[in-house]
Amino acid sequence: MKRRFVWMIAMVLACAAVSAQAPKRIAIRAGHLIDGKSDQPVANALILIEGSKIVSVTPGGSPPTGVELIDLSHATVLPGFIDAHTHILLQGDVTAADYDEQLLKQSIPYRAILAARNAHIALSHGFTAMRDLETEGAMYADVDVKMAINRGEVPGPRMFVATRAMAPTGMYPLLGYSWELDVPHGVQIVDGVENALLAVREQVSHGADWIKYYSDHGYFYGPDGVLHSHVNFRADEARALVDEAHRIGRHVAAHAIGSDGIAAALDAGVDTIEHGIGLTDELLDRLVQQKVYWVPTAAVLAYVAPGRGGNWPKMMETERAAFGKALRKGVKIAFGTDAGGFPWTELTQAREFRYYVDYGMTPIEAIRTATTTAAELLGWSDRIGSIESGKFADLVAVSGDPLADITELEHVKFVMKDGVVYRNDLK
Ligand SMILES: [Zn+2]
Repeated sequence: MKRRFVWMIAMVLACAAVSAQAPKRIAIRAGHLIDGKSDQPVANALILIEGSKIVSVTPGGSPPTGVELIDLSHATVLPGFIDAHTHILLQGDVTAADYDEQLLKQSIPYRAILAARNAHIALSHGFTAMRDLETEGAMYADVDVKMAINRGEVPGPRMFVATRAMAPTGMYPLLGYSWELDVPHGVQIVDGVENALLAVREQVSHGADWIKYYSDHGYFYGPDGVLHSHVNFRADEARALVDEAHRIGRHVAAHAIGSDGIAAALDAGVDTIEHGIGLTDELLDRLVQQKVYWVPTAAVLAYVAPGRGGNWPKMMETERAAFGKALRKGVKIAFGTDAGGFPWTELTQAREFRYYVDYGMTPIEAIRTATTTAAELLGWSDRIGSIESGKFADLVAVSGDPLADITELEHVKFVMKDGVVYRNDLK
């Protein structure tokens, strides 16, 4: 009896010791704070962080005694950036040969190692969350990278993954090889309604946070001057896969470049249009009515257009025109780069910002695409996308003024995710 009592006392003391380990408290002094919500930056702000969360944001004020202070008083602090369209398992694909080589000559484990490296690069450039829109033939390796990041094995952004994506037979690479060869595909091949239902369930069961499908291919300008395309899925197939994804709690992203592919994706009821270069006035109105997000991926288009030639350079002008109209109509535009479509080691994803400003946004509007709007697209508005009490402490800093020069965001000097500092060049 007595021994049991002693044991109980020991347990109580052990519990007290654990609860006494209060979460780490950090204060950040921000010279200027762009919080993701306000139109104007706040000068000399004090951000108090406890563990992984922000507990208070005040203009001025002094840090509580005994709290570690990070001095960013000569910098501009912003919410961590969110890229809503990436491919961590891809290393650039200007030409079909670049793409085929990766699927034919690199094993999935090798590609996953590069993906972990890419996740680290993204985080060090200020991207604290990413929606990775399919593995391009690397099966479910995105789920593994996400798991390794979440378990703290490798540094990287919060990942929202789409796994394999879908297209029908003959409409997505690898294509053009001898029929005698059984070559890999960049997507899960899906034909027919039953097959679409199965693919959605299979992908979700293996960890897909999002479902992605390719709505079109073969982009061409018609006599009407509109960018058209060949639609991949029959209407009943696309509808089935979107409905099934929604039924089991997943949102759907559609790759749709030409007007026909965009219209078909909107008919099917998707949640986000990826690329959307051929958006017409009528389709832009439908985006607004259906509350669908547009993820423009301007950086990748600028990167691949010169090398691909053909219609691609003209498509940049088409996108610029659509972007201006989308702004006037109030379309929800979320930041997405298609990183992986350009090599992770060559460009920072933050390059995307300069195109949005060039195409008509103010710098603060461009910043919102990668913060509040992208968080809303992910359904994570209550957790990330702005610097305010209760949100995760995901934040970045640059030394200049991004409202005067948006390209400052291409030179991130400080990165914190979940209250942990991953980069600080401002010490
Ligand atoms: Zn993509």
